[in-house]
This record gives sequence, structure tokens and C-alpha cells, in this order.
Amino acid sequence: MPLKLFGSMPRSAVILLSGGLDSATTAAIALSEGYALYALSFDYGQRHRSELEAAERVAKSLDVARHVTLKIDLRAFGSSALTDAIEVPKDRTVGEMDQGIPITYVPARNTVFLSFALGYAEVLGAADIFIGVNAVDYSGYPDCRPEFIEAFERVANLATKAGVERTLMFKIHTPLVHWTKAQIIRRGTELGVDYGLTHSCYDPDSMGAACGHCDSCVLRLKGFAEAGLTDPAPYRP
Ligand SMILES: [Zn+2]
Repeated sequence: MPLKLFGSMPRSAVILLSGGLDSATTAAIALSEGYALYALSFDYGQRHRSELEAAERVAKSLDVARHVTLKIDLRAFGSSALTDAIEVPKDRTVGEMDQGIPITYVPARNTVFLSFALGYAEVLGAADIFIGVNAVDYSGYPDCRPEFIEAFERVANLATKAGVERTLMFKIHTPLVHWTKAQIIRRGTELGVDYGLTHSCYDPDSMGAACGHCDSCVLRLKGFAEAGLTDPAPYRP
């Protein structure tokens, strides 16, 4: 029997895993730092199931300690092209994406998701939460910015028993926040992320093939091109 040394247990962390390129890379980074990962995905009423299937595939491929998919229904509120019958914008340039917050914004989504992650982390006794937000090649979502993450970290330490009693000091890790999409893809490739398992498209077909034209596809394809790589994910012909 191998001796179990004190302190040899890996530290646990909760990661928000959407099945997209950014969260898969963030998970690989957290694993490379030695964390045991508890992955959290949300069946939030998104119009397309492909991203949940991708989250399953990514969780399996990365050998996480546990993967939980929570069901919450944000369709009850609607108002986003991802949860309501609203057309997804296509073929916008990066300049056009910079003009404002797009209709694919899901109201308060990262606040909702991080709140669940915080509850899960407190139960696990895990001080570390990873989220793959990015404020460089992104779509202008307010809940992807570093100032939001810093504010949420303060909330985490004010809102919990573990934070108030100082048994845990919560930290929200955002390793990708200042990286370009190309940098993210290069780092993930070095760490062995299989991007063919990931899914980013806002408007895939019934088989899960990406459209190649929504903001998310445009940013993803630009990232692969700038990294000098080919995206292995399936696209519609
Ligand atoms: Zn797309």
C-alpha cells in the first residue's frame, strides 16, 4: 500500500464548463496546476443541446473528478437569442462586434453561474473557482470583464459561511482573461486539448455542426487562423 502523505491530496477547484473552447482550455490549465476539478455545466434552456453534449465530451476527455449538469430554466425570462426565438446575428466583423452588447447576451448569466459554482465550492471546501472568461476576443459581454470578476470575488467572501468565518478565502481564477483567442488556442494545444470535442457556435445544425458565421464562430475561426492551426470541429458545408 502506498503511504498517504499529509498534504499530498490535490486541491479541489470548481470549474464552469460550457463545452466551448475557452472553458476546455481553462480546465486543462487548472489540471496542469494540479487541481482536482469539479466541473459544473448548466442546462439553462439554451436553444441548442450541442454545447451540453460538448461539455460531457470535454469533461470525459479531461478526467475531471466529477461533472455535474444543473438544470435551470432561463427560457422563463427569454430575451436572448440563445434562449428565445430571436435570430442570431451573422457575418459581423470584429469592429461591428465592438459596437455594443449583442442580442446573444443572456441576462446576468455569469453571475447566475458563478453563484451556483460558489455554493458548490463551499460544500466541497474548495477555495478556487475557475471560469474561462476573456476580455480580448470576446463579444462585449459585461460579465466577462475583470472588474466584474473582482467584484464577484468580493461577493463570494462576503456571502458565504466559509468566507465570513475565514475557513476559505475564495479566489476566482480567470487564466484567459487577457489572452487573444489565438493565445488561448496555442496554450490549449500545448496542453493536449482536443478542440474537436468543443463547441462554440450559437446556431449549429441538428447534428451539432457549427454555422461558421455567428460572432462566436467568427472569433473562433479567426483565433485558429491567427494561431496557424485548423479548427478540427465540424462545420456545416
Ligand atoms: Zn456559429
